[in-house]
Amino acid sequence: MIEVAERIKKLPPYLFAEIDRLKEDVRKKGVDIIDLGVGDPDIPTPMEIVSVAKDALEDAKNHQYPSYVGMFEFRKAVADWYKVRFDVNVNPENEVVSLIGSKEGIAHFPLAFINPGDFALVPSPGYPVYPVSVMFASGEVFYMPLKEENSFLPVLGEIPEDILRKTKLMFIGYPNNPTSAVAEEDFYKDVIKLAKKYDFVVASDNAYSEICYDSYRPISFLEVEGAKDVGVEFHSLSKTFNMTGWRIGFAVGNKEIVNALGKVKTNIDSGIFQAIQVAGMYALNNAEKLNKPIRAVFQDRKDKMSDALKKAGFEFKEPKATFYFWVKTPKGYSSSEFTKKLLEEKGIVVTPGNGFGSAGEGYFRISITNPRIEEAVSRIKSAV
Ligand SMILES: *Cc1c(COP(=O)(O)O)cnc(C)c1O
Repeated sequence: MIEVAERIKKLPPYLFAEIDRLKEDVRKKGVDIIDLGVGDPDIPTPMEIVSVAKDALEDAKNHQYPSYVGMFEFRKAVADWYKVRFDVNVNPENEVVSLIGSKEGIAHFPLAFINPGDFALVPSPGYPVYPVSVMFASGEVFYMPLKEENSFLPVLGEIPEDILRKTKLMFIGYPNNPTSAVAEEDFYKDVIKLAKKYDFVVASDNAYSEICYDSYRPISFLEVEGAKDVGVEFHSLSKTFNMTGWRIGFAVGNKEIVNALGKVKTNIDSGIFQAIQVAGMYALNNAEKLNKPIRAVFQDRKDKMSDALKKAGFEFKEPKATFYFWVKTPKGYSSSEFTKKLLEEKGIVVTPGNGFGSAGEGYFRISITNPRIEEAVSRIKSAV
């Protein structure tokens, strides 16, 4: 008999499994499905980045093992971009580590800081990788609820003292998936103060800093005084440049924290394929030029989605960033009931809020990574 480890048995039930199965059933009936479920851009990577990668692919010096920490030129491109975009100084020598997508770095991060029984503070609803990575490291998860009345920021004063004393690590991520909320300097200042008082490490996930709307520009955790004493920021080229399939991201910040994550990685992986790092360097060195047309596409979709949802009478907060709408389920429906109804009756895939943690109950997430916005909303409207 094959017996898997406790850490696999203890995994939370995969709430998307039912959606995937239902989607297959509905598709088999010949229904034209509009998928607003996944946070994966439907637009191709900019051609210029692809061309740079093609040339790099043909260069034999890129065919060998890369270093886990990343090519110096890639780390330099990261540092230069942080300076230009956020006015933050990071040393490419020891304050940057490349990641095979930021998910990889996030998933390995608790292994560097969590001993069995240590606590990690994790947002709910939140990116599912945060709690699972803590559990894989034999840590305990304390869920910080993100509530609308608090602008979907965790209320730090509500975290019990005895938990804080056992806390080694805190995950935060703004602009936020799934709520699309953003954080400003005051919140980060409070986080830094708490981290210093209770001696824990902060991991800020800033994957959506460049998917922003109107004149709003998200800030970096590292812009705030003292941030580098306590934390790192995870970043990714996935969303900024439509590069989800390429697997390239990085962490920047406190050098001891970066080094500790690096130690884990040297023992697990062998870095990002160098041809991809060369393409990533090009992307970061030309970030504004390459990201601007991408932002414009999502801006147009965001405006359309927002207008249509308002007309249809849905309750939500206008996103300032990310490609998500975090929408209240209509009266009388749970998250799962409503998303199931949309799929079965209207061929619309959205994500039930409770799939991101129990505090997401009562909401559903729409992702605008699909061009058929108006048709999708008219179908959603006709369901209620
Ligand atoms: C998409 C996403 C990432 C980035 O993942 P990659 O592994 O870099 O593709 C990180 N955090 C959140 C919350 C995300 O939604």
